[in-house]
Amino acid sequence: MVLVLSNGLQETEIKALVSRFEDEGFRTNLSYGAEAAILGLIGDTSRLNEDTLRALPCIENVIRVSAPYKLASRTFHPENTIVDVNGVRVGDSRHFTVMAGPCSVESEEQIISVAKDVKRAGAQVLRGGAFKPRTSPYSFQGMGQAGLELLKAARKATGLPVITELMSSNQLELFEDIDIIQIGARNMQNFDLLKEAGGFGKPILLKRGLSSTIKELLMSVEYLMAAGNANVIICERGIRTFDSYTRNCLDLSAVPYLQKETHLPVVVDPSHACGIAWMVPRLAKAAAAAGADGILVEVHNNPACALCDGEQSLTPAVFAGLMRDLAAYAALEGRTLGERCLH
Ligand code: PEP
Ligand code: MN
Repeated sequence: MVLVLSNGLQETEIKALVSRFEDEGFRTNLSYGAEAAILGLIGDTSRLNEDTLRALPCIENVIRVSAPYKLASRTFHPENTIVDVNGVRVGDSRHFTVMAGPCSVESEEQIISVAKDVKRAGAQVLRGGAFKPRTSPYSFQGMGQAGLELLKAARKATGLPVITELMSSNQLELFEDIDIIQIGARNMQNFDLLKEAGGFGKPILLKRGLSSTIKELLMSVEYLMAAGNANVIICERGIRTFDSYTRNCLDLSAVPYLQKETHLPVVVDPSHACGIAWMVPRLAKAAAAAGADGILVEVHNNPACALCDGEQSLTPAVFAGLMRDLAAYAALEGRTLGERCLH
């Protein structure tokens, strides 16, 4: 339930109201919008009478929130959440964040060379999988812990923060020094993993499941937030449909819809969405024009020899070209291809 508080209340009056509901067993979430203070009540609000609450002079309006994702909902938190990753402000409506790198970390030379290339082209975050969720148990499973160490070496060489996928909560202790934890499409509804990762305290990028509805995605976001994590980035990466001409079907409508429903940053992964390298730049530009907060894109120094997802990986040269074109599309939504914004 959301209570819109009356204008002009004293801090002491607001505190008294918050305490009253907390004493009644509710969790509260107070936020200040441009025009009014808003008090969110989390708990079983069915026992509260809306008319009685409306009769209180300190309450302007009472809105029952039917959406079950209360922490993720914009109703509770009207302002955008900006996830600050070492000065890279993901979700700042003035910026468009580009996260780029190979599907998998394969060697020191590979990750450092791609890291330098994507940085030179203007990427702000380096991606690279160390633990890989592969459909076949016989495919390359990722370098594991050694891959994480190489990612950190690439961060040291370039200054780019790193994002990498966590597949099991057993791996969490290895992620202490990772800047953004990625939870992949296949694990979107691994609820135990969401609870553990949510409690870990690092920014998390959660990908939409292959066959998940937006509501299911938001409920998974809610798991992360209910575990105490306010720094969640949502990623649309394509869903399964009846057609198979592309690897998945990029659901661009998810971008404005999620941004309306939630206050969290929404990014697009055009690489896994289509699975075909030549299409990726156009989808990336479409994502920017649709108002996404950024993209997560695969770039490999030698796609033909990649151990994973070579067919959808951009060469560094094509990526550099995309970055040059992308600025104009981001500008359509009032964004710049963010310089690293240290504040
Ligand atoms: C990835 O980013 O490399 C990946 C495996 O993505 P997804 O979970 O979207 O398939
Ligand atoms: Mn991949």
